[in-house]
Amino acid sequence: MTSGKPRIKGGSHRIPEGISNNESAGNLLVAASQLLDGSNSWEQIWGKLLLAGFDPHAINSALLELQPDCEISYRMSPPSSPAIEQQILLFGQVSAHEGSVAASELLVMVGQKLQASLSSSEVAVFGESREITTEFHRRLEQVGVVKTQTHYSANGSYGEVEQHPIEAFAHQLMGAKSSLMICATSGGNRQLSKIVNRAAIAHGIPAIYYHAQGLQVQLGPLVIPKQTACYECYKIRRDATLAAWERSLLGWAREGGQLASTLGTDWVLVDAIKHLTGFGEPVCRGRVLFIDYYAGLPEVHTVLRLPRCTVCGNPRRPAVRLWDESP
Ligand SMILES: [Zn+2]
Repeated sequence: MTSGKPRIKGGSHRIPEGISNNESAGNLLVAASQLLDGSNSWEQIWGKLLLAGFDPHAINSALLELQPDCEISYRMSPPSSPAIEQQILLFGQVSAHEGSVAASELLVMVGQKLQASLSSSEVAVFGESREITTEFHRRLEQVGVVKTQTHYSANGSYGEVEQHPIEAFAHQLMGAKSSLMICATSGGNRQLSKIVNRAAIAHGIPAIYYHAQGLQVQLGPLVIPKQTACYECYKIRRDATLAAWERSLLGWAREGGQLASTLGTDWVLVDAIKHLTGFGEPVCRGRVLFIDYYAGLPEVHTVLRLPRCTVCGNPRRPAVRLWDESP
């Protein structure tokens, strides 16, 4: 993974004053910067410092500090901003917290690996308005997802014509190492969700659903084909529990007003990052999260798969054994 051998720019590193009082940390920085002469890879430097008797955590932080001063970076793709560097650091820290980092790995390298899988991921966003698809596009771009495509239907109605682009997008995503479809609507456009669900399941692409309605937001489920319940499973189970007056409320809500800003999109973003990098369990994986921004009450519900769901389940009936049926 690491190519290139780092070298300190200008040949020396200025040791911060506070650190020089601490002899061990100062010694470590001096030893590390001497090794950063372009003849060692980051792993070799790490190993040599460890052999010299320095503490692994101290080595991590010393190399992190020296990294901005080096000419050849071990980064697989150069970060586009200081914010991405911070994000790489965070990814490394979260992975270490979860215990998925080997002692010999630099946290930054682990973070870099996750960032690389994020940048090579492909995402398609479907929605009813340009505002919401653009919002998702912007947020994904911020965290370093380079390949994002958006598609929206201005009048919110999805018929035969719109179905094809969604299927074409799903087909395209099949070639990606990690991919995701995001379906974002207001009021829960069932037609759009249904088309995205069918296309995603048919092509084996994971999909996450986002619906905003007034000051309430529904996030999820994140549907992983062949693993979790699909959107149709969720809708059938949900509809089955609705009272008649609740159904009429849903119809009314579709014509309801909306806040001029999008709510809760960051939840989808974090779940997308978790899914695309694999560094944690997405909150909405097989679950639906409701957030009421007015009352401040979040709720999480698990969505169970329907055994005979016509979209994601096995449509075949189990074999009937005659002796079970006999009186
Ligand atoms: Zn299903």
